[in-house]
Amino acid sequence: MSTPTTIVWLRQDLRLADQPALRRAASRGRVIPVYIYAPEEEGDWPPGGASRWWLHHSLESLDEQLRQLGSRLIRRRGTTQDILNELLEETGATAVYWNRRYEPAAIERDKTVKAALLAMGVQAESFNGSLLYEPWTIRTKQDAPYQVFTPFWKACLATETVHESLPAPRELVSPPKWPKSLPLDELELLPSNSWDAQFYETWQAGAPAAERRLRQFVNETVRRYHEDRDRADFDGSSRLSPHLHFGELSPRQIWAAVEKSSGKVPAGKSKLGQGAEVFLKEVGWREFAYHLLYHFPSTTKEPLREQFRRFPWRRSATELWSWQRGQTGFPIVDAAMRQLWATGYMPNRTRMIVASFLTKDLRLSWQQGARWFWDTLVDADLANNTLGWQWTAGCGADAAPYFRVFNPTMQAEKADPHGDYIRRWVPELATLPTKWLREPWTAPAEELAAAGVKLGETYPQPMVDHHEARDAALAAYERVKNS
Ligand SMILES: Cc1cc2nc3c(=O)[nH]c(=O)nc-3n(C[C@H](O)[C@H](O)[C@H](O)COP(=O)(O)OP(=O)(O)OC[C@H]3O[C@@H](n4cnc5c(N)ncnc54)[C@H](O)[C@@H]3O)c2cc1C
Repeated sequence: MSTPTTIVWLRQDLRLADQPALRRAASRGRVIPVYIYAPEEEGDWPPGGASRWWLHHSLESLDEQLRQLGSRLIRRRGTTQDILNELLEETGATAVYWNRRYEPAAIERDKTVKAALLAMGVQAESFNGSLLYEPWTIRTKQDAPYQVFTPFWKACLATETVHESLPAPRELVSPPKWPKSLPLDELELLPSNSWDAQFYETWQAGAPAAERRLRQFVNETVRRYHEDRDRADFDGSSRLSPHLHFGELSPRQIWAAVEKSSGKVPAGKSKLGQGAEVFLKEVGWREFAYHLLYHFPSTTKEPLREQFRRFPWRRSATELWSWQRGQTGFPIVDAAMRQLWATGYMPNRTRMIVASFLTKDLRLSWQQGARWFWDTLVDADLANNTLGWQWTAGCGADAAPYFRVFNPTMQAEKADPHGDYIRRWVPELATLPTKWLREPWTAPAEELAAAGVKLGETYPQPMVDHHEARDAALAAYERVKNS
């Protein structure tokens, strides 16, 4: 009997280690790793510009890693079902394996694909490669999904799960003849302008880079994570988010690395340092985001809390543009939005600051903010982005209350105490003394002149008066609160 061939359909699991689908395929016989670029199948959320940039480099890296095992990555573009059918026919493969995704459009597509494969007599199997706890395994005592993080995470930690990660296969058996693969450039993932210039200085995609970053974070940064994670002026967090989104790293690998560096974690009662504990809890927020997305799929578009459907959002294309381009006149907001545009990233604290500014100071809808993030973040992730926006706007599960309006000045004092972050991303204010840097409109004329700042010319006047905007937001909230 000839050795059976398995297609491994890769998606957001672009790695070789802790890769259940690949591992199972490798133990069955010959393996054909395949990536199918099918943005039309992502519903309303085809990958944005920054995600496509990352994907290009991640696919390149994965192909290199596979070649070191004597294998390769087959790239195709088109309708998944058609391409799988073609490949099955071309290669004589008798099984297709993949790791599960949890976005609503992906779930629907995957169900259809699985049914079609099984109907053709092809073995079709999916695995858990990207979560510690799959969404349907964690339920409240009333057998409902959780909507509050703390009891959700407690329930997770009390549940038996695998925290150990699987090693990468040592070798992969190739088919006698490789099917055709599309050259990477023909996927047309990179921008046609030079928008991505700074991405190259900031990031290295691919599992080897992800593992290096994880090692460095666990060895150097994690012990101070609880204190430094909110800082914008240096890397106090792991910056693993794009690697996690694309599955270059699994949460099990993260868990295992943190455990190894800090001693075993008995379920619920951890002996970890405070930094490691707070960090793993953030990884828990990612689990919670997937739990919510799975159980409340409409939240990518609609607020979870129904009364917010009637919230009187304002509409203004010019104000939205000023926010997107970092021209609001609030230096901490502008610094963060410019960092996002230049590097595809901003830290969690500034994400909350700019999201609060958009939804409360400007009262523009969180959906517009989520869309912009979707296009510009290298870590754009439907579960985490939806949770982050609904949390900040106050309309989601376990959200910040709507009346909590971030004060940009006070937030900047904490996130960027010396003004280094603002100076880096808003260079037109670079020589303004720190005292005036966060509110340049309060600076005396001679200070502005000495720093070469002309408000309204070299740097914008503030778009709104924060205190008035806050009152207006709270008044709007009062109207919907009890409806
Ligand atoms: C408005 C808004 C939008 C966001 N959009 C995204 C998004 O599209 N993609 C994304 O990955 N994260 C998003 N986040 C969550 C968070 O800001 C990022 O995960 C984090 O800043 C990434 O940096 P890091 O890897 O250094 O995080 P760390 O602090 O080192 O955390 C480790 C990992 O835990 C997860 N994590 C951390 N914080 C959160 C959180 N609050 N919610 C869910 N998961 C979390 C991430 O996977 C992260 O990589 C958003 C937050 C807000 C407020």
